[in-house]
Amino acid sequence: EAANRRVEEVDGDLNSFVTTTPELALERAGRVDGLLRNGGVRPWEGVPIAVKDVLSTRGVRTTCGSKILEEFTPLYDASALKNFGDAPVMVGKANMDEFAMGSSTENSAYGPTKNPWDLNRVPGGSSGGSAAAVAAGEGWWALGTDTGGSVRQPAALCGIVGLKPTYGRVSRYGLISFGSSLDCIGPMTRDVRDSALLLQAIAGHDPRDSTSANVEVPDYLAGLDAGVEGLRVGVVTELMDERIDAGVREVVSKVAAGLEAAGAEVGEVSLPHAYYALEAYYIIAPAEVSSNLARFDGVRYGLRVQADGVHEMYRKTREAGFGAEAKRRIMLGTYALSSGYYDAYYAQAQKVRTKIVEDFRDAYARYDVLVSPTSPSVAFEIGAKTDDPLAMYLQDICAVPASLAGVPAISIPGGLADGLPVGVQLMGDHFTEPMLLRAARAAE
Ligand code: GLN
Repeated sequence: EAANRRVEEVDGDLNSFVTTTPELALERAGRVDGLLRNGGVRPWEGVPIAVKDVLSTRGVRTTCGSKILEEFTPLYDASALKNFGDAPVMVGKANMDEFAMGSSTENSAYGPTKNPWDLNRVPGGSSGGSAAAVAAGEGWWALGTDTGGSVRQPAALCGIVGLKPTYGRVSRYGLISFGSSLDCIGPMTRDVRDSALLLQAIAGHDPRDSTSANVEVPDYLAGLDAGVEGLRVGVVTELMDERIDAGVREVVSKVAAGLEAAGAEVGEVSLPHAYYALEAYYIIAPAEVSSNLARFDGVRYGLRVQADGVHEMYRKTREAGFGAEAKRRIMLGTYALSSGYYDAYYAQAQKVRTKIVEDFRDAYARYDVLVSPTSPSVAFEIGAKTDDPLAMYLQDICAVPASLAGVPAISIPGGLADGLPVGVQLMGDHFTEPMLLRAARAAE
């Protein structure tokens, strides 16, 4: 009831949700209340949660922030929701950039979400609705997805905690695909303890997703408070240069100093190819999306614009259904994958990706945790970057290296710059979430 009330109070201003589900939330909360009386409720059940509108929800419209799926209602829940008993206490489907492409939530067909810290500013993206909902108390928790920073960057800009788990840790079944080799579902919460708890709920192997990892799920709460004595922490040199706002760098240095004071060994580490990550990402992600979005053809899902002949129907449906950024990426990706340019772009980007994987491997030979800013700046004003896609893409410089390497990374609130929240990113090696969460807990 409190969450529903909060949504009613503030969502007219924030637009965190594409669809709100107050009756559903109450009905499911009632079911959990019943279970509670008989014991038998896991600690994450019953917590009011916002679910990014890219995750399929049985019987609840799932738009992906796109006109093309305006009327699409899935028949099943995403696997990530299956540990919530019958279903989570969902307050609504959170707004997002169309098909998760963007860093500001301005690419949503359902209007931008506002940052609760300053309504003239963006909440980040693409999981901007999820981040704003948690920051404003509309959902205690939220689920987001992160392909190249979309959990971490909006968490940073809204002053909350966002975790991108190891690639494969959480099933992608029922997550509408953007970049299948990069997509990860992650918790967005107010603190690190809740992040651990929500990860516990969504992690695990799933035979329905062939890239889901068959690795045992540890207890993420055990040892969470054990501290960082002796932990080797490396601040990433390449992600602390002049491309990052001075105020942001200051907060990151302060958090690193705090870890040192708590007993960690703090040094500097180089990821020599980190700055090529952005270029590689903006070939690989559009290439994958150009293929993944081919299924929206007016036949199988969502919108159909009637026309003479099937090709004309495809053309008109996709012209009317997709927004500008989706079209831009489909064109870029199709170009990069075409036979004449494949070697020059796609194959080259994959080689760069391997270099970045090797950079991380070398870094983790010497350090347990790497530290950097999450985003090069604090939240910017709505409209400031909408005419300049390259300026928007630069928002992702700190986030995409971990995405390409598939390693886990968490953004925690580190402090303020110009009165706005700054996120600090901690990255670990594959499947080291327990250690990463412990470091984040010590740093928060
Ligand atoms: N901002 C990045 C992009 O536009 C990342 C998006 C994401 O992680 N879903 O592709």
